[in-house]
Amino acid sequence: MDWFPIFLALGDAPALVVGGGAVALRKARQLLEAGCRVGVVAPRCDPEFQPLFSAGRVRWHAAGFEPEMVAGYRLVIAATDDPGLNRLVAASANRFGVLVNVVDDPALCGFIMPAVVDRSPLTIAIGTGGGAPILAREIKASLEALMPAALGRLAGFMGHWRAKVRSRISRPEARRRLWERVARGPVAEHLYAGREAEAHRLMAQMIEMASGAGADSPPTAGEVYIVGAGPGDPELLTMRALRLMQQADVVLHDRLVPPAILALVRREAARIDVGKRGGGAPGWPQQQIHQTMIRLAREGNRVLRLKGGDPLIFGRGGEEMEALARAGVAYQVVPGITAASGCAAYAGIPLTHRKYARSCVLVSGHDVEDPAYDWNRLGAPAQTIVFYMALGQIEAICRKLCDHGLAGTTPAALVASGTTHEQEIVRGTLATLADLAARRRPPSPALLIVGEVAGLSESLRWFHPDSAAAADLAAAAGNFEDRPDDRPAPGFGPAAMPSDLAAAQVE
Ligand code: SAH
Repeated sequence: MDWFPIFLALGDAPALVVGGGAVALRKARQLLEAGCRVGVVAPRCDPEFQPLFSAGRVRWHAAGFEPEMVAGYRLVIAATDDPGLNRLVAASANRFGVLVNVVDDPALCGFIMPAVVDRSPLTIAIGTGGGAPILAREIKASLEALMPAALGRLAGFMGHWRAKVRSRISRPEARRRLWERVARGPVAEHLYAGREAEAHRLMAQMIEMASGAGADSPPTAGEVYIVGAGPGDPELLTMRALRLMQQADVVLHDRLVPPAILALVRREAARIDVGKRGGGAPGWPQQQIHQTMIRLAREGNRVLRLKGGDPLIFGRGGEEMEALARAGVAYQVVPGITAASGCAAYAGIPLTHRKYARSCVLVSGHDVEDPAYDWNRLGAPAQTIVFYMALGQIEAICRKLCDHGLAGTTPAALVASGTTHEQEIVRGTLATLADLAARRRPPSPALLIVGEVAGLSESLRWFHPDSAAAADLAAAAGNFEDRPDDRPAPGFGPAAMPSDLAAAQVE
């Protein structure tokens, strides 16, 4: 190891920056953030220094650098573009025993500044020996994404309880086990979710148990995480979803959740596919899902209920919350990108483009004969309508909208397997879409978007998955459809829809 990493207690120590340009400014700001009293030596300074000078936060010596100037400082940073001057600063600092850093010249440095992931008091410093700062920044970015913003709260919490744990639990082994349970278990979860008081209460309980007889039994019941997995592209998961996926003991997932996302669930977690039953039957009955979640949580498991899109948009997450609340099982809900947002974005359809739409409604399209639908309202002008679960009803939906005020020329698009590499778009109008879909047989799941904005997809589309590359060429050549290779036309349409596909539409 060429560089020995340490964390320096700087307090409000005096620090000197030599140089007055943009780099010097950045360094001065870093030192200010660390709490230092900062001096700057330079005959001229970048105007952006001015606010720092006027606020009295930085002292400016408007002069050329002299070796004696470093005396009395805790550390000095040379940030000039004159190599000779930088060398002089380094030599002077060494002579006066002051820590020195020369920007971009590790050979002259007594210390280098790492890239920092700050979850104070938890701090991660990443260094590359001054050789590859960009790489350090890349690693920092990945860590930032992986580590919950509230991790600092957990670190502070652990610091707060440290002495107490040490005094109450004498065996180091038992202390280690306790801390592991704190870091991975419900205490951490309470903190991340902002439930400080509960975290403290649970911690006190855990210490009692660990210092007594029942040292090894898990202290509380588990919890259910109702998590939205987004529309398909794994990169559309939220950070919170990913974190909970990586700490679950068991996962109950729907058939909408693709393998690429399931692969991100903690490897050791047990997997239950509630979207499947033997013999090709549709998914588990909702009641059975509720009972299973409740039982698993009561056994002390962290239960991940992973759902396509957003759990509360046509996802039956609401019923699951009710069941858990009734059973007194703790749960949290993580929103996901719903199919309407995901598909619209990846199909180049701005749902509420202000020139064309004043509102956007999300509608379940699987039972359009239900008298609860207000077709007059759906047919209102300047509105985008997004139909979920509509694959088997396209003809009926388009007809009803035309019957209730929309022109047959109103653009409509069907987005199938949106956001994934299998994404397909069938573009047409209320008058033509049903026929086009019947010939093209887009796969499930598919979303129907109706309104002027659907017509923008052709020119605004930016996502071109491999399988559609040929289709894009055809589209560019004036073919309105995505896929030139008309597949066999089995008379697909509402009436001829295979029943298992119909089932797949209704979660
Ligand atoms: N909770 C989910 C919706 C579940 S209902 C969400 O918020 O997105 C199931 C319907 O969602 C499907 O019939 C289809 O209409 C739509 N859907 C989900 N994922 C989709 C995708 N990747 N592409 C197109 N439609 C999708």
